[in-house]
Amino acid sequence: MKMQSKTIMQNSRMRNEIESSVSIVECYVCGKGLSEGNSISAKTLSNGIVLFCDVHYSMQ
Ligand SMILES: [Zn+2]
Repeated sequence: MKMQSKTIMQNSRMRNEIESSVSIVECYVCGKGLSEGNSISAKTLSNGIVLFCDVHYSMQ
């Protein structure tokens, strides 16, 4: 029972972090956004979730 509630809490916390980090969808390096027709991909780094355009995603 205790373990179940802990798992649910961790999942919802993770979901909130993802939602807040993608509220502004633009490349972390050059700042290009989806509105300019770019493809933005998320990558999880040691310091959190970072978004990259096609060019910079392949460079990481
Ligand atoms: Zn970029």
